[in-house]
Amino acid sequence: MAAAVDPARCLEILADVSWEVARALPFFGHVLAAFDRVVDERVATVAVGPGVDARPVLYVNAKFFTRSLRTMESRAAVLEHEVLHVVFGHLRLDEARMPDAWRRNIAADLVVNQYVVHRLPSTAVTIKRFAWMPPDLTCEGYYDRLKAMSDEELAATVSDRACGHERWGDDDEGPSGGRFKDLIDGVREEALARAERDGTIDQISGAMREIIARARRTPRSDPFWKRALRIFCARTLRASVRPTTQRESRRYGSARARWDGPIVPGLRRGRSPAVLIAVDTSGSISNATLTTFFAQVTRIAATGARIHVVECDLAVQRDYPWDGKAPNEVKGRGGTAFDPVFAWLRGAGRKLHLTGCVYLTDGEAARPTIRPPCPLLWVITPNGTHGNVDFGRAVTMPA
Ligand SMILES: [Zn+2]
Repeated sequence: MAAAVDPARCLEILADVSWEVARALPFFGHVLAAFDRVVDERVATVAVGPGVDARPVLYVNAKFFTRSLRTMESRAAVLEHEVLHVVFGHLRLDEARMPDAWRRNIAADLVVNQYVVHRLPSTAVTIKRFAWMPPDLTCEGYYDRLKAMSDEELAATVSDRACGHERWGDDDEGPSGGRFKDLIDGVREEALARAERDGTIDQISGAMREIIARARRTPRSDPFWKRALRIFCARTLRASVRPTTQRESRRYGSARARWDGPIVPGLRRGRSPAVLIAVDTSGSISNATLTTFFAQVTRIAATGARIHVVECDLAVQRDYPWDGKAPNEVKGRGGTAFDPVFAWLRGAGRKLHLTGCVYLTDGEAARPTIRPPCPLLWVITPNGTHGNVDFGRAVTMPA
């Protein structure tokens, strides 16, 4: 019997292979860098899945990775396969549209294996196995063609080897409630932003970029966006609530008439918390986009946050408490800078005790240098850039 594979040795090999993948396409390296690596014999091959706190993990079966796969080439190809599933949005495939999990998984593999850079192991599910399968179809396109095959035909064409998708849904019903897939979406966005920053984005082929773009605008990213906002607002509002003693809590009860939020025993709201929404009113923002921006303000207000709005192009133009109505016109329409809002937060805005800032923008401005004094969430227009934002997480507004 062969000796067990040393997990430490497996992780070393994994690190080497990751370098090789990053060398072939830096964008892949940016994606891989976001994953924790865990040797786990419970996965059959290599699989992406949630770890502690739903953090993205690359699980690796040491025996498969170091013995079944004999060459760097095939190991790199297997990692690229996993990365492509992530960036193509395959963890959010439409299960209502493609209810048969087996064919759905094969369809996803047929898509990703066309973009793997290194040579895949011979067991891989590629369109070459299906002589009549055209290239460049969507998952749905391949799924529909696979439906035309009987189970027997299909089983004869592809091996039943687990293809590393087994942990994609692990977090859906868990305590973190799908946070893993949100984080995976974030990994893709961050990797794209990095590739844009370091100029390697041009190395991504047009066809690949098209699939990534489709993944980014799928309506399934909508819940992600909504959840990102909800989590951010909940976190910033919670931050303004300080634990207090039992006695103060009772005293607080007598002042209940002023309380307009949920009653939390033993907690007291220091001041009515408010979120600042910075609206980019520069010339690059169309009137249609401004309308969308103010629709987002309404949405954020619906989370229960008190909202203060600041309109800013190259300078802060005006600020006002949100009263539920979008203004008829905005002040600005010049160039764009982010720093004035953060300077304003540190200066004039201080007395408003703002607990968070959401910045609605296309991202087209110089990188900010002033750190805002509170948590920050960037909300970027669908055609905007993530390359210049800093000091907080960025999400893309659905188109
Ligand atoms: Zn796969």
